[in-house]
Amino acid sequence: MAVTNTAALAANGQIKSRKLVNITVDGHEYQVGADQTLLEGLREAGIKVPTLCNWQGLHPAGACRVCVVELEGARTLVASCTQPIVDGMVVRTQTPRVRLARKINLELQLANHPEDCFYCQRNNNCELQTLAAEYGVERRYRGKRKQALNDVTSYALMRDPEKCILCQRCVTTCADVQAVACITPLKRGFDTTIGVAFGEGIGDSECVNCGQCTKVCPTGALVERDDLAKVYTALADPTKYVVAQIAPAVRVSLAQEFGMSPGADFTGKLVAGLKLVGFTKVFDTNYAADLTIMEEAAELVGRVKNNGPFPLVTSCCPAWIKFAEQYYPDHLENLSSCKSPQMMMGAVLHSEYAKKTEATRDGTFVVSMMPCTAKKWEMNKVSEGDVDVVLTTRELVRMLKREQINLAELEPVSFDPVFGASTWAPAIFGVSGGVAEAAIRTAYQMVTGEELPVPDFTPVRGLEGVKTTVVDVNGVQLRSAVISGLQNVRDFFAQGGWEDYHFIEVMACPGGCINGGGQPYSEHWPLRRLMESLYGIDKNMSWRRSHENPEIVDLYEQYLGAPNSEKAHHLLHRSYVDRSMDYLPQ
Ligand code: SF4
Ligand code: SF4
Ligand code: SF4
Repeated sequence: MAVTNTAALAANGQIKSRKLVNITVDGHEYQVGADQTLLEGLREAGIKVPTLCNWQGLHPAGACRVCVVELEGARTLVASCTQPIVDGMVVRTQTPRVRLARKINLELQLANHPEDCFYCQRNNNCELQTLAAEYGVERRYRGKRKQALNDVTSYALMRDPEKCILCQRCVTTCADVQAVACITPLKRGFDTTIGVAFGEGIGDSECVNCGQCTKVCPTGALVERDDLAKVYTALADPTKYVVAQIAPAVRVSLAQEFGMSPGADFTGKLVAGLKLVGFTKVFDTNYAADLTIMEEAAELVGRVKNNGPFPLVTSCCPAWIKFAEQYYPDHLENLSSCKSPQMMMGAVLHSEYAKKTEATRDGTFVVSMMPCTAKKWEMNKVSEGDVDVVLTTRELVRMLKREQINLAELEPVSFDPVFGASTWAPAIFGVSGGVAEAAIRTAYQMVTGEELPVPDFTPVRGLEGVKTTVVDVNGVQLRSAVISGLQNVRDFFAQGGWEDYHFIEVMACPGGCINGGGQPYSEHWPLRRLMESLYGIDKNMSWRRSHENPEIVDLYEQYLGAPNSEKAHHLLHRSYVDRSMDYLPQ
């Protein structure tokens, strides 16, 4: 009998014992978990079954019918994604009948699909295109095209309804994972489309720009706004001093795009690659993340001294900020007034840095390399010139490949210093819990004058949606919560008791920025590997606390005075707006 991974893991005690069932697939016997769909069971057994609408963790839609299999005793083929698994099932996944049905279903999907793969952002990275090639589809059916206009109303996303195959992954993600539900099926029959109620543009909706829907879309129907042309224009302009900043999550997300093992630290290689593209300087956004921590920790210490208002809630995630402005307008005073790290970095580069170097304020052109689509919205709607362009990790990869730069082959190069000597700051901000951990390290020092005995603050680590902890700071029991994924945020605030916390970190994307909406496409994105890689970088730093960063110490000594000083407030802080009425039907 073939023993599957699950049974082996259960035997090792690595997963809790669960009920198992025996199934026969293509003549081989397997033991897999009960209480799941047949598709999940087949995948658990290591059998590849294609699908265009199913996605790990999302409610199955049964829409594409590409995952059909033969089931002994059943008259018709069954969609394995909606078929519950039953003990003793005999399944065939690769018979001529199954392959033909999948091929016809793919041909029907393509019957009204635009034939513009060459011009599509998803060319060579499209699930529909890949399966079409795998199943040798032919042009046997030609259907009426939808003739819908592209939706270009958003600063973060673009929608091409003609490329939509109605799989509903985006709808389920937006509603169930992110608790926004701004996109939905509209109309009926052939006219069915996915969009915003009353045909509004997605940029005019409650969309918080998190981009999680773009990660699950199997085609080019829903993608990030492509801003590469603006970067090429700036690079070709001799009056521009074009600099890049790199977010922590990006540097550990590139390796597999260049044929290396997932999670490998590509920091120095990426700096080298961007210099080859033509960027004059390349900076580490962690520098600004340390700055954020200095300002946020000072805010927290101030609130502890003044007894509130509590909790202080982090502000570095723009998707969370828009969510809060829309749905929690009565609690905006709880939000930290700190700008996000990319905005702080841009503000420093456009001001103090520009004064000190050959760059001028107006000539400085700051490009942020982010795992995030919401940062595009933030740049356009909030940043007031701090940042000039935001590229997602996916755009960054496209740019490097277009320039024929293979990061894997490059020798690492250090970041450019903002002021003084070049330092590499810890990178834990890219993972859920990283901001809380860094803030606790620094707030502890600010209050007690001593360092947190062990910098590894493990209770806030891990990929769980909600983590809570208490730390004793000079007799104050500082209660913190770390939440990622906006449905988890809604649940956390709805259950009550959140007012009892002193500090709450919120990241919109489940797991934090390593799972950002601008990260490379993959249903099996190696989140844990990326998280471990970032903690590994942190562990190997010679200094691990934001207040020890020599460049940050210099910045305060030479320009800003102290955290939360008037100058720091002017440059590094922001305000919020009540958006609760912005999207009501007129
Ligand atoms: S970006 Fe986020 S909020 Fe906007 S439609 Fe996609 S999942 Fe929903
Ligand atoms: S936009 Fe993409 S994810 Fe959404 S239904 Fe269409 S094809 Fe599926
Ligand atoms: S969690 Fe990170 S990647 Fe996701 S929206 Fe927020 S800032 Fe962007």
